[in-house]
Amino acid sequence: MSHGVLKIVDHPLVKHKLTIMRDENTGPKEFRELLREITFLLGYEATRHIETFDVNIKTPIGETMGEMIQDKKVTIVPILRAGLGMVDAMLQLLPNASVGHVGLYRDPKTLRPVEYYCKFPDMTDNYVFILDPMLATGYSAAAAVRMVKERSVREVKIISLIAAPEGVEVLEKEHPDVRIYTASLDSHLNEHGYIVPGLGDAGDRLYRTR
Ligand code: URA
Repeated sequence: MSHGVLKIVDHPLVKHKLTIMRDENTGPKEFRELLREITFLLGYEATRHIETFDVNIKTPIGETMGEMIQDKKVTIVPILRAGLGMVDAMLQLLPNASVGHVGLYRDPKTLRPVEYYCKFPDMTDNYVFILDPMLATGYSAAAAVRMVKERSVREVKIISLIAAPEGVEVLEKEHPDVRIYTASLDSHLNEHGYIVPGLGDAGDRLYRTR
């Protein structure tokens, strides 16, 4: 399902796994495993458009033309800390991708992102996938996109487990060229900036910090 910049991957497997993740009784081990599995499925969709090039190979039976991608021209950018839970799945899909890291925390009063870490590889002409499980206000993702776009990249996409309409609107306004891949568009944000119904704090649930 597509709404403007938003692509909702509403496959039954994704819905099933997300429902288990949302359940407050799901513990960190299962939560981490499910985030990895859903990221794999979202990543599959988000990489659908990557350019292929032709190669001539020999099978045990004969010669044929095949297609491959240049996965060295891909950079994965998790937003710390919850985005880290999505990196392994993306690297399984794209083993030669490089990984950049962006550290942004939300000022609890203004809900605006504050940068505390940024380390990027050379991303010139790369496909870039920004990872953040919860697209809430959209301010962090928009800031990360801004940082990435300064690096002469080929294209930027966001992969997010759950998106809030408020966050999608912020992204759409500032970065209408950036597609967002998500498993669910939820109802709204509450007064603390949490997605409703969401799944709580993704970082806390991944790393059992609360
Ligand atoms: N970050 C989270 O981890 N959860 C939310 O609901 C919103 C932002």
